[in-house]
Amino acid sequence: MIKAIIYFLITFAGALFAYKEKALSQSGAIAACFVGFAVLIGTGWRGFLILGLFFASSSFFSTYKKHLKKTAEEKLANTSRRNWAQVAANGGAPAVFSLVYAFTSNEVFLYAFFVSIAAAASDTWASELGVLSKGRPVHIATLKRCAPGTSGAISSFGTAASAAGATLIAFVAFFLFNLSVPVMLMIGLFGLLGSVADTLLGAFVQVEYTCPVCGIQTEKKEHCLGRTIRVSGVTWFNNEAVNSTSILIVSFLCIITSLNIT
Ligand SMILES: [Zn+2]
Repeated sequence: MIKAIIYFLITFAGALFAYKEKALSQSGAIAACFVGFAVLIGTGWRGFLILGLFFASSSFFSTYKKHLKKTAEEKLANTSRRNWAQVAANGGAPAVFSLVYAFTSNEVFLYAFFVSIAAAASDTWASELGVLSKGRPVHIATLKRCAPGTSGAISSFGTAASAAGATLIAFVAFFLFNLSVPVMLMIGLFGLLGSVADTLLGAFVQVEYTCPVCGIQTEKKEHCLGRTIRVSGVTWFNNEAVNSTSILIVSFLCIITSLNIT
């Protein structure tokens, strides 16, 4: 009981700090409390540290060179201040896998926990740093050059950033949890695969709107003080749906793989 109270105070203090630093909105801070608490209960301070590393690095990169991201921000529905939907999309899977691990004590779910965070880091680093790429990215559906920040666009810099994000999480998990090298490689690989899945879903399924006033292609539902019109993609399949779906796909692939090799 005392442990639970301490855990709650730690997550509450962390969420409050992130809110004050404008990394989280009010709803985002409340959602982060649930995620942080679940992770602490399930995987202890080491799991919490990995989650914190993902969150701190992502928040840092989303404010990093912000003045150069103006064009991309016009297109993206997200802001650097995360709301509950964005916290749930990236933190929901880690929270659930962490709790399932605590109840079952099956390491497979601990690996899925790492993979879900590695995938989230891989994708967030790619989107936050990829938009800073010098050249125009290539859209994987049309293979044509497109504006930075377009969902489904890839650049070499963004790809390197996504590999770095997955590698860092796998590496820290390896050290903190005394994992074997093959397990570390598996986590890094599935994490990277998560951002590949994210790009594919972003290119082929994610909803895309256009502004009838200025003609920009955007993920935003509103632009130029009016509603935008859907041009492609599935109506409800927004950026958060893409994030959570790609994270869940690679986490389950990790579970299936781990069950077969252990
Ligand atoms: Zn407009």
